[in-house]
Amino acid sequence: MTTIYDIDAIEQLRSRNAVQPHRMKLFRNALFKNSSDWNEALAVLPESARADFDRSITFQCLELAERHDSEIDAASKLIFKTHDGHLIESVVLRPKTGRTSICISSQVGCACYCSFCATGKMGFTRNLTTAEILDQITQANRMVKPEGRSIRNVVFMGMGEPLLNTEQVYRALDLMMDPKLYDLAGSRITVSTVGIPNAMEDFTSAYPSVHLALSLHSADQEVRQRMMQQARVYPLEQIHETLLAASKHGKVMIEYLMLDGVNDRPADLQALENYLRDVPVHINLIPFNEYAGSNLRGTPQPQREAFANHLKAAGFDVTLRYSMGSDIEAACGQLVQHKRKG
Ligand code: SAH
Repeated sequence: MTTIYDIDAIEQLRSRNAVQPHRMKLFRNALFKNSSDWNEALAVLPESARADFDRSITFQCLELAERHDSEIDAASKLIFKTHDGHLIESVVLRPKTGRTSICISSQVGCACYCSFCATGKMGFTRNLTTAEILDQITQANRMVKPEGRSIRNVVFMGMGEPLLNTEQVYRALDLMMDPKLYDLAGSRITVSTVGIPNAMEDFTSAYPSVHLALSLHSADQEVRQRMMQQARVYPLEQIHETLLAASKHGKVMIEYLMLDGVNDRPADLQALENYLRDVPVHINLIPFNEYAGSNLRGTPQPQREAFANHLKAAGFDVTLRYSMGSDIEAACGQLVQHKRKG
C-alpha cells in the first residue's frame, strides 16, 4: 500500500508520469498546506498523471468513526478506525488564547499499564505506522479548515507510549517538520513519555528542537511504582540523570497528574521540590479525568491550587492545567475503552 506519506514511492510515481517538480509542489501544498481533499489535489496535476496517482496512492489510511464536540469548551474528540479494525483517538483543542492543537496517538493500546490510565487497561495491540500517526493530523486539519484554523501544535499525549515506537514516531516527526509537508517547527511538537532513560537520551540528541515531556507523577520511588509499572524498571535516580542531560536542549516539561491522597500530600510536594531543584523544568499540574472503571479520585481544585502556589513560591515555573473536554472523556483512552465495552 503506497500512502501519501511514502515519499520515495510518490517520487517514483512522479518520475513514471514525468510530472514537473513545480506541479508536485502544488500537489503537496494542496494536501499538506491547504488541507484540500485529494480530488482537489489531483486536479493540480497534469491530466495524464491523475488516474495513475489516484489508482496508486492511498490518500487516507484512517477512517473517522466518530466525532464528539465538547459542549463546555472547544475540544473535539476524534475516534479513528484503522484498516484492521482497531480504534484510536485524537483530541483537537482550540484554546481561547493560543493555537489550535492536536493530541495524537502513537500506538493501539499501551504496554505501560499505568494504574490511572484508561488506555493501560486495554493492553497493547500494535504500533501505529507513520502514515497512521500523520493521518490524524491531516484529517484534523481538514476538519478545522472551515473554521479558518490549522493545526499548529502537536502533542503525543494520546494512546500509547511514543518512545516505545520510535521508528515510526521519528519518521513522523521528520515529515511533520519537513518544510515541503506540514512545516511545523520542532518547538510546536511535544513528545510525552512515561520515562525510558535511554530512549529519552536518543530522542533529545536526534530531535533537540522538539519538546520532551516526562510523565513524572511522583518524585517518591514507592509512590511512583504504585502508579506506574515502568517505574520499577526505570528508577527515579536514573531518570534524574537523564533529565539533567535532556535539559541542555531546553526546559523539560514535567507532567504531574494529581490524585487525591496518592501524590498530593505535603511529603509528595517536598519530594518533588527536592527532585527537581537542580533541573530546568516547567511543571504542569494535571487534573485527573475520572472515568468508570477507575476508583481513583482527582485532587480537589483548592488543594491543587495550594500545591501549585507552594511550587511557585519555591521558584518553579508551574502551570495549573484545567481539564479540556472532560465531558467528552478526552483523557487518554477513555472513549475507545467505553466503546469496546458497549
Ligand atoms: N505514554 C505517554 C503519553 C500518553 S499519556 C506518557 O505516559 O506520557 C499522556 C498524559 O496523559 C500522561 O501524562 C498521562 O499520565 C496522562 N493521563 C493518563 N490518564 C489520565 C487521566 N485519566 N486523567 C488525566 N491525565 C491522564
